[in-house]
Amino acid sequence: MRSSSRPIPGPRSIPGAGLVAALMAATLVLGSCSSKERVTDPDPVTAGVAVNGNVVTWTTDVSTRASVRYGFTSGDYSMVAYPAAANREDRALRKNHRVPLLSVQDGQDVFLQVLSTTSGGAVTASSEVQATIATSAKMSAPLLTSTLMHIGWGDAHIMTMPTSGKRVLIDSGDGNASRSVAEYFQSVGVTDLDVVAATHVHYDHIGGLVDGDSQFPPIIEAFDPEIFLDSPSKTHFRNAYGDALTIIAAENVERVIVNRFDTDQTQPALAWDPAVSVTILNSGLASDVPVKDFESDNINNESIVFKITYGDVDFIIGGDAEFEAEQSMLAAFDAADLNAEYFKAHHHGRNDGSSLAFLNAVKPRIAMLPVSTLEYNDGYEGYISDSSGALNRIASVGADIFVVNDIPALDIPYTSGWNHNMTFVTDGLSYEVHVERALQSTKVAHGAHDCDSGYDKHRDHEGHREGDQHDFEE
Ligand SMILES: [Zn+2]
Ligand SMILES: [Zn+2]
Repeated sequence: MRSSSRPIPGPRSIPGAGLVAALMAATLVLGSCSSKERVTDPDPVTAGVAVNGNVVTWTTDVSTRASVRYGFTSGDYSMVAYPAAANREDRALRKNHRVPLLSVQDGQDVFLQVLSTTSGGAVTASSEVQATIATSAKMSAPLLTSTLMHIGWGDAHIMTMPTSGKRVLIDSGDGNASRSVAEYFQSVGVTDLDVVAATHVHYDHIGGLVDGDSQFPPIIEAFDPEIFLDSPSKTHFRNAYGDALTIIAAENVERVIVNRFDTDQTQPALAWDPAVSVTILNSGLASDVPVKDFESDNINNESIVFKITYGDVDFIIGGDAEFEAEQSMLAAFDAADLNAEYFKAHHHGRNDGSSLAFLNAVKPRIAMLPVSTLEYNDGYEGYISDSSGALNRIASVGADIFVVNDIPALDIPYTSGWNHNMTFVTDGLSYEVHVERALQSTKVAHGAHDCDSGYDKHRDHEGHREGDQHDFEE
């Protein structure tokens, strides 16, 4: 069944656009950051935007990467949909584009813009198109969802498996995050966890599991996981890790150590869903990783790195792995086995992770960053300079970068001061990102000079917590 679609004159259309452009969806470049590329990278011309069922199609006069941003009211584009991942169509530069929308229902009105990204990274958006979704076909297979939660400083992902419904938490933020996670879980109806993983022993990844308060107890206590996934012997001990071992023993949580090359076929604790496969790419300090003087680097390189696959769509989520662990994974696996649509930028997107060699194997289309670092390096500028190399490398392989605060990908309209949860949704064929306002409380406030939480009272500018400095390195 064909749905109706009609272009709506966009308020941001280029004034004086010619007849051809007026007949087509007018193109415009969004965001000042893409203006440099425009000099050598002419704007693609978009034509023939149509919506059939839940599938958006269009053409461009030059080859581009495609995505569609959409929502349910005019101008709201908080969801970004991508083409099917089979044969890396989602990353191909093409002239004919086809993008399914996964989160729509029959009869629903959607407002969308098609986005065309050139090989140089410049993004053009069509004017807004309104369409009524009309399809009698089943929209998609069961969905796997993965949310990078905003929890203050640190990593915390909650994944819900597509057919088993199992909940897997990978990392938990710092000690303040038990509150953030509990509030987020309450908002989305998560009442218990099946599997909890700690990628490594740093407090910003494990603190929420073991610290809390009278109102928000440690996540392990509050959400009753059955399995705790751990890496092999540690090069350095951390108090929070000792606390984790104590709590999981007290709570009768099964501790399972995973090793590189373990899979859901060989390790039952990784069998989360019949439709999802899991491979451990890294866990503990690999024998070919040189030991560094700075012990935190060694701990970061111990990170468990998960490859999670649902149909054609792959995730790599791997804590704070730095260059050395990435090099070790490149040596241990074929590059094709490292390919993934979704990449959680290693080590918070900082410059000692996300090496170009690793990115060239992964070839991510989506890169997720858990930031909350506005005051971490004495402000935003410091963070950007620390991360700019990694962010540039990630962008250079064609990935769209989503950050839980501050840097909206693809010029998604956002409100300054809001933080976001980034939910990745896939039916195993194509995928989309939902940029959702984070309403849970987070102890690290947005803004370099907006530290109203008292969080800084507990640590100095090197990120060390007073009286317990070993626990607060990242
Ligand atoms: Zn770390
Ligand atoms: Zn970290």
